[in-house]
Amino acid sequence: MENLISNLVDERQEELLQLLADLVRFPTVSPPARNTAGVQQYIREYLKREKFETSSWDVFPGDPNVVGIKRGTNGTRYNSLIINGHIDVAEVGDETEWTVPVFELTEKDGFAYGRGTSDMKGAVAATLLAIKLLNELDVELKGDLQIQAVIGEEAGEAGTLSCMEKGYTADFALVVDGSDRQIHGQGGVITGWITVKSKEVFHDAMRMSMLNAGGNVKGASAIEKMMKVIAGLQDLERHWAVTKQYPGFAPGTNTINPAVIEGGRHAAFVADECRLWITVHFYPNETYQSVVNEIEEHLNHVAKADPWLRDNPIHYKWGGKSMIEERGEIFPALEMNKDHVGVQLLAHCHEQTEKSPATIGMSKTVTDAGWLGEAGIPTVIYGPGKLEEAHSVDEKINIEELLTFTKTLMVFINRWCNSEK
Ligand SMILES: [Zn+2]
Repeated sequence: MENLISNLVDERQEELLQLLADLVRFPTVSPPARNTAGVQQYIREYLKREKFETSSWDVFPGDPNVVGIKRGTNGTRYNSLIINGHIDVAEVGDETEWTVPVFELTEKDGFAYGRGTSDMKGAVAATLLAIKLLNELDVELKGDLQIQAVIGEEAGEAGTLSCMEKGYTADFALVVDGSDRQIHGQGGVITGWITVKSKEVFHDAMRMSMLNAGGNVKGASAIEKMMKVIAGLQDLERHWAVTKQYPGFAPGTNTINPAVIEGGRHAAFVADECRLWITVHFYPNETYQSVVNEIEEHLNHVAKADPWLRDNPIHYKWGGKSMIEERGEIFPALEMNKDHVGVQLLAHCHEQTEKSPATIGMSKTVTDAGWLGEAGIPTVIYGPGKLEEAHSVDEKINIEELLTFTKTLMVFINRWCNSEK
């Protein structure tokens, strides 16, 4: 069967590239997003032709998810699988920097160029071809196979979370986002807004009375108080770097980035409000709730040591379901359980097609995989494409790599969905 699959995939290289060209032609750029109805319709029809029961719903208007399920012949006893991929692509920026068309597939020197080829329409095309070829080979799958084509990954608008909220589940899940065909878990990310706010608004002329001996006005600049908050965050970041480690990550990966600051109203006033937008990276053995608690506890201690902040508590707003609508996002972390039968089988299938052992480790970036893990589904990230290609000018994917990935995927689907729970 492995040889049959390998030869068949090689014969169908042109079809794979045609499929990828079709997907790249939909300019599903996010932000601005709200532009994925066309590509999702295309994927849904493809899945229907391959005998999948499909459903689709708007996560945001103009941005529907598509889920297709092919029922196994003995689904109660045999393992089910989710293959998850996002169909939005990163912003293009200055198109004139590109030497190839952005939304038209270009083949050159063994690579396929175009926005999304690497992140991650190449993997979606490979998935679609894989299920078609398994059908052509009349491969019986005893367990259920589920394809999730999701929106919103690029802007923290997890379409995957929406799938989890609807209860879609399986015994194992592959998020086929680019991992250079390594088997990955990931750290997590949460963004948050920290606000310092005065109850009163003071004119600039009052500043001397707020600062100087005998002034007798209890007030403060929210911007200056935010400097204490930032200093506190730096202390905590350093403390985390020194005290927390996780295998597969360079020490100090758990950063707190003061990314955006807004505040003050006018040069004629003392700033009565200041807002800081931070990005927090944490390790797979932590949750976003736990790191948020640590940050709040630490900053509340900083505030206690300041006579003004003590009376003007710091406000926090964590996470969010969209960088576009709410300026906030969460990517839960994903632990890696090397001993899980699904991980072991995937590593075995990888070794068989690639003729070299699989690398199991931690991603340097974040994907939607954390949402599947948080829903209790054993999950790994495993996909074609290199991290440095994602979001890049002249984005490309190695065609040979895409073919190899297709083969591994077919072998894995066949083995996993035909193994008993
Ligand atoms: Zn991606």
